[in-house]
Formats: sequence, C-alpha cells, structure tokens
Amino acid sequence: MDCTRCGACCVAPDIAALDKPLGMRCPHLTADNLCSVYERRPQVCRDYAADEVCHLIEAPTLEERVQKYLALFGLTDEAESIRQRGCSSMRKARSG
Ligand code: SF4
Ligand code: SF4
Repeated sequence: MDCTRCGACCVAPDIAALDKPLGMRCPHLTADNLCSVYERRPQVCRDYAADEVCHLIEAPTLEERVQKYLALFGLTDEAESIRQRGCSSMRKARSG
C-alpha cells in the first residue's frame, strides 16, 4: 500500500536512533506531518515502508492512529507509563 503521510510511524514506535520513546512525537516531524530532516533522516526511517499496519491503524486523527498502533502491538500501557513519567528520551524511559 502507499504511504498516506499520516504521521503515525513518526510518533508511535520507539526509535533508538533518535532516542525517541514510545508514543512520543519525533521532534523532526513538522506540524503537517512531514520530516524536517528528510535528507539526513536515520537509516531506520529510510528502511520503513508502508505495509498493512498503515491500513489497520487508519483513523481520522493522528492521536487515534497512534493509539491504534500502540494497541495493535500491545504497547498501550507502556506508552501511557512513559507519558505519565514525562520521559523525554528513550534512555530515561528505559531506566525507570
Ligand atoms: S504509518 Fe504508514 S501511512 Fe502513516 S506515515 Fe507511516 S508509513 Fe505512511
Ligand atoms: S526523523 Fe523524520 S522520518 Fe524519522 S521519525 Fe522523525 S520525522 Fe519521521
């Protein structure tokens, strides 16, 4: 399937190369859900391709798509715990 630039894969997963915790918006994601560092984005972002997950998480808002993504992978509770602890980095998220 084609990427609809919905933004969910730049928010929902944890991305070690960016020290980005689960469920937190990548700081490089612009307000209109584009990558502001596209030319120098990490390899993991280059390798990411749209697949059936993109279809499964379809929803009207980014927040809902992120929640569906987290639920799909059983990560809702972990993401909520990270959010409540206010972890700004993956290292902090994992040290708790
Ligand atoms: S979740 Fe899928 S459709 Fe949405 S931006 Fe990422 S690759 Fe594209
Ligand atoms: S670096 Fe760009 S492509 Fe990678 S998660 Fe951030 S906004 Fe998305």
